[in-house]
Amino acid sequence: MVDKVIGIDIGGTNLRGALVSREGGILKRMEISSQADQGIDKVIENLAGFIKDISEGENVCNIGMGIPGIINSKDGVITQAPNILNVDDYPLRAVLNEKLGSDINIVIENDANSAAVGEWWMGASKDVNSMIMITMGTGVGGGLILDGKLWTGADGMAGEIGHITIYPDGAKCKCGNYGCLESYASATAIRRMVREGLEDKSLNTILRESTKNIEVEDIPQIVMEAAGAGDGFSLGIWEEVGKALGIGIASLINLLNIEMVVIGGGVSNAWDLFIDKTYEEARRRAFRAPMKRTKIQRGLLRDDAGILGSAHLALKSSNEKKP
Ligand SMILES: [Zn+2]
Repeated sequence: MVDKVIGIDIGGTNLRGALVSREGGILKRMEISSQADQGIDKVIENLAGFIKDISEGENVCNIGMGIPGIINSKDGVITQAPNILNVDDYPLRAVLNEKLGSDINIVIENDANSAAVGEWWMGASKDVNSMIMITMGTGVGGGLILDGKLWTGADGMAGEIGHITIYPDGAKCKCGNYGCLESYASATAIRRMVREGLEDKSLNTILRESTKNIEVEDIPQIVMEAAGAGDGFSLGIWEEVGKALGIGIASLINLLNIEMVVIGGGVSNAWDLFIDKTYEEARRRAFRAPMKRTKIQRGLLRDDAGILGSAHLALKSSNEKKP
């Protein structure tokens, strides 16, 4: 019986991973720079070294990985991952098997799907059968667990909650559409709202000063602090975020009658600033009975959701491979 696996979360900046026990305990944790800006070969070299280091002294044959992008998990191919590995149809599993040995069982999955599995296995939705994970980060990702199974769809592309339409004539999304949830509830969306707001010179907000000379990545945090200090414009941004999220969640509740919606990702740190609006909007739009049942909750595992989810997928796949 497999008693240890490796779960890895591959990001644009870092590779984070852990050696994970069968019971979901994290036995050893590591993090290194992914150096994704130096191209796919460098990432693969780092990834192979990372896996060797993390499995040192252990006999680990099953590895799961979460990757932000469109993943064909059946074939082990990254269909598209524009934000991190600028590759199309990249056969990640085959490349890693060549480097690490063909006896290593490698499972790859979309990162939000992995996070959904993680929260369902060891986190906020441990006791439910059907849930949706929404990750609010640079973009908005999603994963669906339906009747105790990850729903990946016919092409492995299910759960792209970030690209459901909230406002048909809304802000342009990087996917090419307009008014996607991602255009209103991601770090990118918050940066846009700040930029557009500040164009109005008569607008009175402390952001005018506090966003000067800071990295764009830090803007959501600054808007959170400004809202906490009572800045009206910043509070309005979080209301926008909460409202868009509530509209999206109402549709998901009406469509799927899930038991729980779990929200994670860095932007969800502003939970107290948007969640009341999210509930208000969802209640206004969803049918009463399924709305009453559905809990909307913050993820419990934070950064470990993806690692544990990937580990669980590796464990599950090792069981399936048993004769
Ligand atoms: Zn979109």
